[in-house]
Amino acid sequence: MLRREPNPNRNHPLHCPWCAGEDLFPNEIEDFGWLCRDCTRVFSVRYYGQDAPEHRPAPARSTSQAIKNSLKRHGHLQEEEK
Ligand SMILES: [Zn+2]
Repeated sequence: MLRREPNPNRNHPLHCPWCAGEDLFPNEIEDFGWLCRDCTRVFSVRYYGQDAPEHRPAPARSTSQAIKNSLKRHGHLQEEEK
């Protein structure tokens, strides 16, 4: 039986943000807490959500569209393809 509900926003850091140690262990201080066993620091890694920028980058072109654009830009398209 679980002692508390699983936390879907919990993530596992790969390195301690202070000493880059990899010996990290969950800490009971809160639902997002970690203990670094190398430097004994206790810290949290928390996910708040994604930013919603006012101006987003243009969506990436498909590979075939990118190739067509590149060929056109360098003058390699045949007449019927232009
Ligand atoms: Zn550390």
